[in-house]
Amino acid sequence: MSHEHLQADCIFCKIIRGEIPSFKITETDKSYAFLDINPLSEGHALIIPKYHAEYFHQVPDDVLADMLPLAKKVALAIGLEGNQYNLLQNNGRMAHQEVFHVHFHIIPKPDTEKGLKIGWPQMKVSKEDLEKTYNRIKID
Ligand code: 5GP
Ligand code: ZN
Repeated sequence: MSHEHLQADCIFCKIIRGEIPSFKITETDKSYAFLDINPLSEGHALIIPKYHAEYFHQVPDDVLADMLPLAKKVALAIGLEGNQYNLLQNNGRMAHQEVFHVHFHIIPKPDTEKGLKIGWPQMKVSKEDLEKTYNRIKID
């Protein structure tokens, strides 16, 4: 993939172009994997598209189709003890996105203190409300 879809002033685009150094794990024509500079646990890695998009839903399908197999390869290379890890992708500031170039995190969870900590504020909803939501969202 040529660099025509990259942006001049984006930090992850600069990493792809080699203008900012990174610990590259592997890459394909369409995606790039490297270590997170401030890991939540040892081995914390990022998978990014070689296509500048701020949000997940803006990434072309062929690029997305390249990213997940690469994420799987990286997960296996990290050597995830007991299969404890999170695959995370944040969109928007409130959802904890800090770098506005799409990225998947692979975050090993070696113990309760290290790795990702998640709030899971479950709501109680009626069957009717769930059905309203379903009717709004369903595609087929
Ligand atoms: P977000 O909160 O946007 O989902 O995550 C952005 C991630 O990018 C953070 O975990 C942060 O440590 C990482 N990051 C930010 N700048 C750099 C950088 O220049 N190099 C590397 N390797 N990681 C970075
Ligand atoms: Zn970018």
